[in-house]
Amino acid sequence: MLDFSLSFEQKTLRQTVKRFVEKEIVPIALEFEKDEMEGKLAHEVIQKAAQAGILGLPVPEEYGGGGASGIECNIALEELAVGCGGIATAIGASWFGQTPILMAATKEQRERWFPILASKEEGHLVCMAMTEPQGGSDIENAQMGLRTVRTRVRFEGDEIVVTGTKLWPSNFDVSTLYTVVATTDPQKGPEGSCLVVVERGAKGLSFSKPVPKMGMHADRNGEIIFEDVRIPKENMLGKVGDGFKLLQRTLVYNRVGAGAISVGMARGAFERALKWAKERTVMGKPLAEHPVVSSKLAEMAAKIEMSRLLVWRAAWYNAQPKKRSMKWASMAKVYASDLAMEVTTDAVQVMGSYGYAREYGVEKYMRDNKIIQIYIGANELTKQVIGEELLTAPEDMFEV
Ligand SMILES: Cc1cc2nc3c(=O)[nH]c(=O)nc-3n(C[C@H](O)[C@H](O)[C@H](O)COP(=O)(O)OP(=O)(O)OC[C@H]3O[C@@H](n4cnc5c(N)ncnc54)[C@H](O)[C@@H]3O)c2cc1C
Repeated sequence: MLDFSLSFEQKTLRQTVKRFVEKEIVPIALEFEKDEMEGKLAHEVIQKAAQAGILGLPVPEEYGGGGASGIECNIALEELAVGCGGIATAIGASWFGQTPILMAATKEQRERWFPILASKEEGHLVCMAMTEPQGGSDIENAQMGLRTVRTRVRFEGDEIVVTGTKLWPSNFDVSTLYTVVATTDPQKGPEGSCLVVVERGAKGLSFSKPVPKMGMHADRNGEIIFEDVRIPKENMLGKVGDGFKLLQRTLVYNRVGAGAISVGMARGAFERALKWAKERTVMGKPLAEHPVVSSKLAEMAAKIEMSRLLVWRAAWYNAQPKKRSMKWASMAKVYASDLAMEVTTDAVQVMGSYGYAREYGVEKYMRDNKIIQIYIGANELTKQVIGEELLTAPEDMFEV
């Protein structure tokens, strides 16, 4: 039997996050824009998310975390994004930075970092410091083998010295841990690549002011400068030469999360537009009863379902032993973000000028979603990745 139902625990998680969103995010979702530079409101929400056990969901239970699976993290991200894509992105990006730590940490590293990431007393974010000023896509592009990374590490005694600049990473100036994509020598490609963890407060670590953006105001993005930052050699994940593989494996999991955030935003916009279309009258009857509008609403609902099916399918795939799939993760990310762009734009259309007005909160979903077509693999690059897998796919590629 094919079963799409959620388990009791998954339904409970969904309800918990939904209640959190309604209480802590929805009432202030339109305030994040005014607070973009300060980020006080977002900080308070992140603290509350930690207390509610949401921030620590992916951390194993033995360290105080939620022990959530990939599918459960995606259920949580979808619900968070119904409330605000920026908060969902800040939390999703923190999990992005955590993924290689969860995958590759030694026992000593687990004992050092996992309790911090699971803390309910204080929320601790992680920053995935990957993108650099000269380009993000090429760093994510497996064909480039991390040859374009300019952030360098060198070894001096028991220490690693990190030098370079990152631009755009989420949580850039508010994280406790920075998972830094670096290299000993870019010309060595994968062989010279590594991921190192820099802890907040390290000497030589500094930040620019946040960059004002079109959307995702609850997420903080800017420049991170590593000026001869010295860290213990025990802060490397794996060894030199592991960075490329670890980053690509991380993208397989976290691209699905970006898709889940798009599903949530499409749902948020759709729910508002549907309510509006039932209440607003045109030519003496509710908008929703006009066939053209009802057909648009039907298409929007179907696009949300299609996206969610792809996201869940990709998350299911990643949970199967030895079946992890970049193709499915990329399909989920590309189509969920593209379809959410269509759904959020249509939601504005259905609501007319009210949809276009800030006050009604629907145009925010459209602005917030735009970056999901760009971040964690621009959709052009991500389609290229799908295309590459198709070239090597077996004849029975649609077999399940
Ligand atoms: C809100 C937000 C959150 C972010 N979070 C993070 C984070 O947590 N960590 C992090 O490291 N970075 C993060 N980023 C950065 C983001 O991932 C990069 O900006 C993104 O990867 C694109 O890199 P770029 O801007 O340098 O564009 P470029 O790499 O210069 O690409 C520009 C455009 O070229 C096209 N393109 C690129 N490659 C190809 C290709 N192979 N084939 C065809 N066309 C192509 C695409 O249209 C792309 O949009 C974030 C950015 C924002 C705004």
